[in-house]
Amino acid sequence: MDYAFQLAAQGEKLGEVPVGAVIVCGEKVLGEGFNQPISSHDPTAHAEIIALRQAAQNVQNYRLVDASIYVTLEPCTMCVGALVHARIARLVFGTTEPKAGAVVSKSQLLDNDYFNHRVNYAGGLMAQECQHQLSEFFALRREQKRQEKVKRQEAQVEQEKHA
Ligand SMILES: [Zn+2]
Repeated sequence: MDYAFQLAAQGEKLGEVPVGAVIVCGEKVLGEGFNQPISSHDPTAHAEIIALRQAAQNVQNYRLVDASIYVTLEPCTMCVGALVHARIARLVFGTTEPKAGAVVSKSQLLDNDYFNHRVNYAGGLMAQECQHQLSEFFALRREQKRQEKVKRQEAQVEQEKHA
């Protein structure tokens, strides 16, 4: 999870919401990724999806039997679906996502019995660190937006002076 956390920080440097994911099988890292939908112009480019694609390429198999995924944030609906398709054995996530989490928060998709594969899951690993990383990011972004607004207002006042 510590490695997933570092990956999330890499995404943050690109202005992406910081979420990181690592897929391991035994001691071996099969895939890794960080959230990057904005920079890659790809709505599906969540950390989990990037890591799944890399892992599947690595083992040359779309089924990642016996693999575990560590992700800093509770997965969304799309990612939960992808984990089931990939036959991931175990999901470990950091902090919960109260607005859109599909494992324990908004819905509990992995508890459904209509999937043909069961993913074991556990949440709360490094939850505080992961939560803090996200809230710092959003606080900074709010502050940047506020400053931009102030600048725009100042520029307008300046224009009106000359009018
Ligand atoms: Zn997702």
